[in-house]
Amino acid sequence: MQLKSFLFLLLIISLCSCQKKEIIADILIKNGIIYNGIDNKPSESILAIQGDKIIYIGKKKNVNIIAKKTIDAKGSIVCPGFIDPHTHADRELRKPEKAHNQPFLMQGVTTVVVGNDGNSFFPSTEFKTLYESHGIGTNVVLMVGHNTLRKIVVGRSNKKASEEEIKNMQTLVQREMDAGCFGLSTGLYYAPGSYSDTKEIIALAKIAAQNEGIYDTHLRDESSYTIGLKAAVEEAIEIGEKANLPIHISHIKCLGVDVWNQSLDIIKLIEKSRLEGIDITANQYPYDASATGLQSAVVPRWAESGGKDSLYIRYNNSKLKPKILGDTRKNITRRGGPDKLLIVMTEDSTFLGKNLLEISKEQALTPEETVFEILKVGTTTRVASFNMTSEDISNFMRQPWVVTGSDGNTGHPRKYGSFPRKYRKYVKEEKVIDIGTFINNSSAKTAAIFKIPKRGKLQEGYYADIIIFDPEKYKDKANYENAFLYAEGLEYSIINGVIAIKEGIYNQKRNGKVLTKKDVK
Ligand SMILES: [Zn+2]
Repeated sequence: MQLKSFLFLLLIISLCSCQKKEIIADILIKNGIIYNGIDNKPSESILAIQGDKIIYIGKKKNVNIIAKKTIDAKGSIVCPGFIDPHTHADRELRKPEKAHNQPFLMQGVTTVVVGNDGNSFFPSTEFKTLYESHGIGTNVVLMVGHNTLRKIVVGRSNKKASEEEIKNMQTLVQREMDAGCFGLSTGLYYAPGSYSDTKEIIALAKIAAQNEGIYDTHLRDESSYTIGLKAAVEEAIEIGEKANLPIHISHIKCLGVDVWNQSLDIIKLIEKSRLEGIDITANQYPYDASATGLQSAVVPRWAESGGKDSLYIRYNNSKLKPKILGDTRKNITRRGGPDKLLIVMTEDSTFLGKNLLEISKEQALTPEETVFEILKVGTTTRVASFNMTSEDISNFMRQPWVVTGSDGNTGHPRKYGSFPRKYRKYVKEEKVIDIGTFINNSSAKTAAIFKIPKRGKLQEGYYADIIIFDPEKYKDKANYENAFLYAEGLEYSIINGVIAIKEGIYNQKRNGKVLTKKDVK
């Protein structure tokens, strides 16, 4: 036999004997439009899951998969479950009847970060045990909050922390990092975090840095209340630089008329730092109204020192009252006026769904006096505050270092709608970003920022947190009139390899885990 024909024969034999690789799987997802969280363009891969991991992603022709269950995702998008970097979901995860976390689940979120804005439940070990005992619908990433620690160590008053108090707070940060927290969060706008100086935060952030944590901040000022937006971003950069850890700015925005149109300057400032090698990123929710407590929004911090009782003692003092009312009036103006503050949550239902101007007319009081009438009743008056421009929102959204976050809390539609709203409004309707960017900046990038091991990508060996949604039907339903409507169009949600949403219906499975940085097995 000639050498040529011999080689040809050998090739034929080897091709015939080369069988497809056989894979035994629990779940096979086929025919979907697969975005893996990294590439901007989709592929036509198939994906197999066994246990809690992805065991195969790739071409169909290379393998023979025998699966217990097959999901035909024809026409639908298959991508990593979304990771929400800023939520207040811990308020519900601690309640057995609400720990399903369905408002987030229905958006396609499979992991929520909690303990943001400087407020964390302490000690986290206790809450970890609680979450695990009643089960949670999504995974959760814990942060340790500066405000929480300051309340414990320093109290609620307007004072500087002593060296000893800083040391005590550092010990608590270390304890919380040991318990599995992913970093330090601050809410420097809120009392008592607002009473701290930059030095104090650097000292605490250094402990997070030694534990490979990140620094997540609600800036000291997103507007023109105190130091101003730009100086507040500079402070965050200084903290990250001096403490040597990544900086993540939460819900980046230009809040109020005084700082409108500053987004390009803020972007320039951040880009400059990034070029210098500083690791700085941000998250953003896709709404032009923020939400916060009425008191936090308009009452001056100096008047709050010591808590609510102290506030009313000052308010009833005839010497201080005019200054409190004057400062409150300025803050209402800063937020666009009394008609831009909508009461979305309060114990007195007669105020609900009305703006501050309407209520003040009913009460025959000035808007600033009305604030103190409303705050007298109960403790949880919250407002939607319409204070952003669409240009600033779009400018921030286009940045590769801005990821999707909800800042989900009760009363604002963002808790039920942030991710699908960003897709519907900013990807499909206004084309501010493309779909690949939307998915990547809602999954893999967020996992990288928080250093969450083996999540956020569709990749072999990664945890099987996967969603499937209909690109035509995936949309938000919640609005300011009814902020409690679940999103539509999510077909499947798989969390740690277990199906939680099947054909659009939540099956009550609670397969979320409290994540730690050690989840690398
Ligand atoms: Zn915040």
